[in-house]
Amino acid sequence: MSDWLTPGLAHLWLPYTQMQTAPAPLPVVASHGVRLRLADGRELIDGISSWWTACHGYNHPHIRTAVEAQLAQLPHVMFAGLVHEPAARLATRLAALLPGDLERVFFTESGSVSVEVALKMALQYWRNRGQAEKKRIVYFRHGYHGDTFATMALCDPEEGMHTLFAGSMPDQIMAELPDTPELAAAFDRILATHAERIAAVIVEPLVQGAGGMHMHDPATLRHIAEACRRHEVLLIADEIMTGFGRTGHLFACEEAKVVPDIVCLSKALTGGTLPLAATVARHHVFDAFLSADPAAALMHGPTYMANPLACATAHASLDLFEREPRLHQVAAIEAQLRAELEPCRAIPGVAALRVKGAIGAVELSGAIDLDALRRRFPELGVWIRPFGRIVYLMPPFVIGSDDLARLTAAVRQVLAERATTLK
Ligand SMILES: *Cc1c(COP(=O)(O)O)cnc(C)c1O
Repeated sequence: MSDWLTPGLAHLWLPYTQMQTAPAPLPVVASHGVRLRLADGRELIDGISSWWTACHGYNHPHIRTAVEAQLAQLPHVMFAGLVHEPAARLATRLAALLPGDLERVFFTESGSVSVEVALKMALQYWRNRGQAEKKRIVYFRHGYHGDTFATMALCDPEEGMHTLFAGSMPDQIMAELPDTPELAAAFDRILATHAERIAAVIVEPLVQGAGGMHMHDPATLRHIAEACRRHEVLLIADEIMTGFGRTGHLFACEEAKVVPDIVCLSKALTGGTLPLAATVARHHVFDAFLSADPAAALMHGPTYMANPLACATAHASLDLFEREPRLHQVAAIEAQLRAELEPCRAIPGVAALRVKGAIGAVELSGAIDLDALRRRFPELGVWIRPFGRIVYLMPPFVIGSDDLARLTAAVRQVLAERATTLK
């Protein structure tokens, strides 16, 4: 087959992979629309948008044109002491799109780092205001906020991927999502008891992604935001997965009419073409860093910060949200996911079905042979990659209903096949 594959696999270290036992990765050579082409000529319909980034599908001509133009003009330049049009315009545009006075944009290159920056902002906000003891972060069960050390400490301690490192991470405070009156009271008690030590609460608004695709309603998010305000704690919304239409609104916070103090964006920010992330702060957060004292400044600055190619790509992606009916497409996907995944509930070994926007997640019960599931989907011509107890679909928003029907049919088929093997 490909002359690069076997020699390369002898040197690559793959993500989240037990490399002694996992099935070999599939060699992909091209992409177009919602399809991935493999080296052997087969094409897979993509059901998960390359870790939830490729909302316009692949190789969209408008994005390609933007990247090519920027590549010819200014591919990269350092961002200290210099500024460029793609970053300036993108910051202006994001500030206009985000709710309330979320208006200061700090660019980084990955979601985890954008969360690290949000944490730094939150801790230093209180330090700059003379309350340095406010440095703990409250996070929620089933949450996921990244793979770096500070963000690992905010992931679900039992179901998260990072239990191995417990003890080497800062000690943060876990809460249950306050989606019942009892849990709401318990959440308020945590904030009331520890408010002098708490800098911020961090939440994935409406849908918790990599921690198991758990969903909560806008009222729960509003409760969190109101409790934060009452107890003088900042609210960080990690919209890295939910941002840019995935839940049916451009931002999940919008649906709940919540304006967090800090928002993290990444994944679909560039429509899946180049890495970029942004941490966006409200006016009062930024204001706390203004001082005659150099030590009050935010000391952070990734080498590839605000990469012009990535910023130009994000612009092109935002153009597509304006020009093409993305949110209508998400609504249509939601309706189809609800209808076509509903029969999964009756399949033995299915514990729950959750749908929100362009996200459909089936939670499994019983023994799970993840590698077997992962091998089976490509045999059916689809790219679906379950994790933990979850088989999910998060297709590109441009997917046609026939292709989406093939994805949902594959989920039903594979779960039915698995049911016959369950004791
Ligand atoms: C993916 C994700 C992250 C981490 O982003 P990376 O770019 O992988 O570092 C953080 N938070 C949420 C909610 C995510 O979905």
